[in-house]
Amino acid sequence: MASKPLLSIEEAEKAIAAFPVTVRTETAALSAAHDRFLARDILSPIAMPEFDKSAMDGYAFISRDTSPEYQVIETIAAGTPPSRTIAPGLCAKIMTGAMLPPGADRVVKRECTAEENGLMRIVAADANFNVRRRGEDVQAGQLVMARGTRLRAAQVALLASLGLAEVPVAAPPRVGILTTGSELVAPGLPLGPGRIYDSNSHSLAAQLRETGAEPLALGGVADNAAATVQAIASGLERCDILILSGGVSAGDFDFVPAAMKKAGFILHFEKIAVQPGMPTVFGSLGDKAAFGLPGNPVSTFVIFEVFIKPLLLRMLGHDHRPWLQPAVLAAPFQRSRAERSVFVPVMVSAGRAELVSYHGSAHLHALSRANGLLLVPAGQSTIPAGSTVDVRLL
Ligand code: AMP
Ligand code: MG
Repeated sequence: MASKPLLSIEEAEKAIAAFPVTVRTETAALSAAHDRFLARDILSPIAMPEFDKSAMDGYAFISRDTSPEYQVIETIAAGTPPSRTIAPGLCAKIMTGAMLPPGADRVVKRECTAEENGLMRIVAADANFNVRRRGEDVQAGQLVMARGTRLRAAQVALLASLGLAEVPVAAPPRVGILTTGSELVAPGLPLGPGRIYDSNSHSLAAQLRETGAEPLALGGVADNAAATVQAIASGLERCDILILSGGVSAGDFDFVPAAMKKAGFILHFEKIAVQPGMPTVFGSLGDKAAFGLPGNPVSTFVIFEVFIKPLLLRMLGHDHRPWLQPAVLAAPFQRSRAERSVFVPVMVSAGRAELVSYHGSAHLHALSRANGLLLVPAGQSTIPAGSTVDVRLL
């Protein structure tokens, strides 16, 4: 199998982008909509504010009215409509958020006034009108949020303020995680000689949740060809996308690409010119897709971030653009071989990018201290210190 075609990063991205998806829509209660993706455009059912209101605690009056004092005809609390009309020589005491009474067009804040025996005098200049006009933030019928938007706190706040108790959201893709490797032990159990803890099923589940997908732990399968085919076939029934970790390299016990084929998958690529993660496999079977990721934990992490996350976000209706942060490289980057593009974990802070000490794709400690990835393209072996680089934020 030495002749597997080696795809560039862009070619691999294109192959995955060609996989057709549909965004499934469901309804979520507003209280459960945080971090989900909006499935339809939202047109505002109301104007915001809904009525002219005071922006200050003070007195509502007519701005042209320059009377030396004003008779206070009522007190208007937020939530209670005014009952009187303001005419020259009159004012109403008004609280922040209360409806502006008819006739009034301005509020003088309390700090600029003195009130005695039911009469208010303006004792200091207040340059502001202190009125929030109906519709000044949002007009009724206006497009306020586009489908595909992720509902963070500010978006949840807006939807609540528009009175929406339910929101159309994208159903999260169900993503099965299947680990291969006879050496793997679940955290919490004792390690026998030569065994290691399974970190990939945990990192993948966390990355899936962060992306907005629903992880489905399918457990582990030993390095055995028939068992792997069987695990793929039965796992596939329960998910939209399947991610396998390990078993994709050239070792005697790497059965995943052949098992994917045997389970009916068409393999679209089996190698990307990227480091870490070269032996990544992508296949599809009808409307389902599967990835075989190299088991080295940093490879699994990086390949998910760069290649799988965009697919999942597409299934959530979200137009994903990786977040690129320009930063000045603190120390030179050097490598001896440059045939492949490489993603290097870096720590960006205050515009400076530090390379975290990283010795290879097994080193999770380095990854755990990084907050970004620096892509060094194929053919480039050095980047001098002081260069401005674009860091892909994690
Ligand atoms: P493989 O891709 O199966 O050849 O595995 C490459 C390396 O990653 C080996 O050192 C494995 O022990 C390690 N590895 C495989 N799967 C996992 C996993 N789920 N968690 C942590 N390390 C793993
Ligand atoms: Mg293995």
